[in-house]
Amino acid sequence: MAHDEPHGAHHHHDHEHDAHGLPSEPDLKVRAIETLLVEKGLIDPAALDAIVDSYENRIGPRNGAQVVARAWTDPDYRERLRADSTAAIAELGYSGRGGEHIVAVENAPGVHNLIVCTLCSCYPWPVLGLPPTWYKSAAYRSRAVIDPRGVLADFGVTLPADTEIRVWDSTSEIRYIVIPERPAGTEHLGVEELAALVTRDSMVGMGLPKAVAA
Ligand code: FE
Repeated sequence: MAHDEPHGAHHHHDHEHDAHGLPSEPDLKVRAIETLLVEKGLIDPAALDAIVDSYENRIGPRNGAQVVARAWTDPDYRERLRADSTAAIAELGYSGRGGEHIVAVENAPGVHNLIVCTLCSCYPWPVLGLPPTWYKSAAYRSRAVIDPRGVLADFGVTLPADTEIRVWDSTSEIRYIVIPERPAGTEHLGVEELAALVTRDSMVGMGLPKAVAA
């Protein structure tokens, strides 16, 4: 398991949840406001769910997919991504809060990267949007470190036994995105077609890109 730095005395962490997993005060306020708005008939919970789903699954991760597809097709871009991921990602227009320092970690034959935030839910917002519920769960946050292979298997991802799994613990200062391996048989595809193969989960390391029909 690889750590950018160990969780220790000098580990600074902006908690969206406190160490006991209780919702933060802003989180509680948001829930209270949502409840009031629903009760007064001002918002439809289904519409709210659709908005959240959109940020979790479409708007945010589509940015990350562009970064991945560019890395797959442009060796110079991949080099810039290795040298300074934050700058290379900003080249494509993705920056801002939650993306002040992003590190792209590359999967390769025999190496698989997995991202977690063991203390709360730090996540690279400009490239992946909002974290999914499972990413914020206590079960994922602990098991990803203790038993990454088992967690991956639960998500339907079975890796060769000799593949090294590197677990990266996100913080408010450093957040990670996985650059998955380009699927076989995609040599003829362009950037947009490739981006469509890149799933959100594959950029957290909890999945693989979609395969193409042979
Ligand atoms: Fe965190």
